Amino acid sequence: MKAVDVQVKGCYIGGEWKIPEKERLIEVKNPADSSLLAFVPRGDKREIDLAVKSAKKAFHSKEWNMVKPYNRGKLLYQVAEIIRENKEELAEIETLDVGKPIAQSAVDVEIAARYFEYYAGAADKILGETIPVEPGIINYTVREPIGIVGHIIPWNYPLQIAARSIAVSIATGNTAVLKPAEDTPLTTLKLVELMEPLGLPKGAVNVVTGYGYEAGAALSAHPDINHITFTGSVETGKRVMESAAKNIVPVTLELGGKSPNIVFADCNEELALEWVIKSIVQNAGQTCSAGSRLVIERTIKEKFVDKLINAMEKLTIGPGIDNPDLGPVLSQKQYELIQSFIDLAKQDGIRIATGGKRELVEKCESGYFLQPTILDNVPASHHLAQEEIFGPVLTVTTFETEEEAIEIANGTPYGLVAGVWTENAGRAHRVASLLQCGQVFINHYGAGGGIAQPFGGYKKSGFGREKGLEALRNYTQVKNVAVKF
Ligand code: NAD
Repeated sequence: MKAVDVQVKGCYIGGEWKIPEKERLIEVKNPADSSLLAFVPRGDKREIDLAVKSAKKAFHSKEWNMVKPYNRGKLLYQVAEIIRENKEELAEIETLDVGKPIAQSAVDVEIAARYFEYYAGAADKILGETIPVEPGIINYTVREPIGIVGHIIPWNYPLQIAARSIAVSIATGNTAVLKPAEDTPLTTLKLVELMEPLGLPKGAVNVVTGYGYEAGAALSAHPDINHITFTGSVETGKRVMESAAKNIVPVTLELGGKSPNIVFADCNEELALEWVIKSIVQNAGQTCSAGSRLVIERTIKEKFVDKLINAMEKLTIGPGIDNPDLGPVLSQKQYELIQSFIDLAKQDGIRIATGGKRELVEKCESGYFLQPTILDNVPASHHLAQEEIFGPVLTVTTFETEEEAIEIANGTPYGLVAGVWTENAGRAHRVASLLQCGQVFINHYGAGGGIAQPFGGYKKSGFGREKGLEALRNYTQVKNVAVKF
């Protein structure tokens, strides 16, 4: 099963690899067969302190802050190149670590490279303004780096999120401390290892592996951090925000979702069908922006769901390295969580139109594979249609009118993404304007590839935006200068 040999050198702090004592290690396992992939350091407050100190020293060093923005950009272009040169290895590590199909990991690797290119181009375009205050005064603004940025990364898209964290931090002249998820830290470590020969000043980028309640908590509570970017669950997001508040540190929170695909009777059905499936099976449904609710007009529901069942039952399930449609879910814990939602459906008499069971895969008996699952006729207010399941489980809810569709779509605590399927352009724009979420896709789901588009949530899906030029705001602070002449 193990295709590449994963060598972990330690935590990356101040340009050096630090290995803690033997008893402070975490096992990293392959979700497909539970085999051991590597040990990583169980960093805690000690390593976080060292990393933040290194990032602070680097931030205030001439070596870093005298680098021309253009040269920071050049460095980022080089990272993109290195990622592409090592794309097979990175994709294999990501698949072994996260479980996702290798083709999806290959996309993640390309997206990681694109983040570096995108922010490379932005590095020397972080502009200020002049403000016409009164004659005899020149008033202008400068966007300065914010300082030391902490990035807490989830387990589902580790390479993509590490890449965007590092790329935007360097482009804006900050220094960074990354804390990858304990389950999937391997590509983040590989990425900084690949970046080493580029000669980034020591401490400009640091990675501390460890548990959330130890390393993550220490990072978000650290008094010398100037910004925290957290991507993960709502519950942890609240804790991170509380800790940061004690130090008056701004946070960006990218949290969960319960995103609807709103399918109107006047849509292109084949297209809608294709993307409703893709948006819930990608990464076995373990995607913050998964299209986990099908909200569909009653007149076409039955036929559409029949086609959906038919197509979902044809999907292949297996270890990610064999490139099936669905890999395993991350762990037994994740599987049990998803299963508890399916049990609730059974208990409440909700029809499981397809799936709902664990799939046993040959030679991967200890992997947790789940059949893609459709829960039919779920009332909009039911827990199953309200809470993030984070697995390949789609709920189906019907509507009669456009108003009702919008009410259902907006009727959860989340507001990350929505898909709208209609051939009526007026309706498409009208519905988009009324949806309470950070991103709306019309007649596609994920259109545009994501790098250049601001991404983030309304309501409990968080606040602040990553991706695109919008993200530069999080990583810079504005200084206003007034000159009387
Ligand atoms: P999680 O909240 O359990 O963990 C996220 C990260 O926080 C991990 O690195 C973890 O170690 C760390 N952490 C845990 N406890 C902490 C603490 N007390 N203090 C500081 N850090 C702590 O989430 P997860 O299970 O890794 O990820 C799944 C969740 O992330 C889902 O809800 C998903 O929707 C969300 N997510 C959101 C986005 C987005 O951009 N909106 C992207 C990916 C995932």
